[in-house]
Amino acid sequence: MLDSFGREINYLRLSITDRCNLRCRYCMPEDGVPPTAHDDLLCYEELLRVAAAAVSLGIDRFKITGGEPLVRRGCTDFIRALKALPGVRQVTLTTNGLLLVPLLDELSNAALDGVNISLDTLNNAQYQSLTRRAHTADEVLHAVRQCATRLPTKVNAVLLPETADQLIPLAELAQALPIDVRFIERMPLGTGENAQTVDADAALTRLRTRWPDLKSVHEPRGNGPARYFHAPGMQGCIGLIDAVSHGFCARCNRMRLTSTGLLKPCLCYDQGVELRPLLRGGADDTTLRDAIRAAILQKPAAHCFAQRENITEHKSMNQIGG
Ligand code: SAM
Ligand code: SF4
Repeated sequence: MLDSFGREINYLRLSITDRCNLRCRYCMPEDGVPPTAHDDLLCYEELLRVAAAAVSLGIDRFKITGGEPLVRRGCTDFIRALKALPGVRQVTLTTNGLLLVPLLDELSNAALDGVNISLDTLNNAQYQSLTRRAHTADEVLHAVRQCATRLPTKVNAVLLPETADQLIPLAELAQALPIDVRFIERMPLGTGENAQTVDADAALTRLRTRWPDLKSVHEPRGNGPARYFHAPGMQGCIGLIDAVSHGFCARCNRMRLTSTGLLKPCLCYDQGVELRPLLRGGADDTTLRDAIRAAILQKPAAHCFAQRENITEHKSMNQIGG
């Protein structure tokens, strides 16, 4: 359906947990967040009901996110059921990759359409410092390589001042493997609230020192707002997601559902429609659909990253469902 600014809303990010096996500095506080009681999470049946209602409004692409979605038991069965819902066109997953390899066969059999793997640095010591855990970038890189042999794979790296020397090595993955590597400006949310980001245009200038022939890719790629670039010899593309410096709100096509059932129209604002009371209060499908429609119609014209005092969302990204 169209929102009140005429934008077609066809994409929903479904967070299935706020728990995570990492503590990325820009995403989660060191001590984590108070764990959500299991009963407060939407169960998979409730998530499927929301998805079916969303499909009836024209939302046919879904991203499974979290927290770390693969820490929730039954995630692959849920993905299979979601992909099998009539009208669902695409289901993808975003993960830190640490639990991915043993699940790849199941995920591919579940007809998952693609995986985004978050990896901000190839340097093991830096990875441990950024994630505040003992896992290594090598483990994630192994998952990227394995995943790329089975499913369309993207690497997502948040642009951080401390990982500036990782820009070219990470981008080289798009040369060595048939994957896209996307660089994301850090958004001033959660534990990244007061942090500075690296401007995506500055990153592009640096990438051009390595690939002077880097050209814009004009044909659409994926569901999101990334700008893609390609140079001769690259197997994949390099993407830039510059929500902060440029903003792409005029083309925004998405909604977000937190793991506890808040349907959020925009990352910036602590606003939305609580679906859990409806799901558990006996609401029929029409009422549920009307609630989703109402949330879509609440979508603001734009985010307010440039006027941080207007940000009303103070949850961390793992709770929002980044
Ligand atoms: N745990 C999974 C992962 O890391 O991919 C899924 C959830 S995580 C919140 C989704 C994405 O949000 C990750 O790519 C992460 O890097 C990104 N993210 C978290 N905090 C962010 C921030 N402040 N600005 C930009 N991206 C952020
Ligand atoms: Fe966990 Fe993903 Fe947040 Fe890192 S970015 S703490 S992996 S939810």
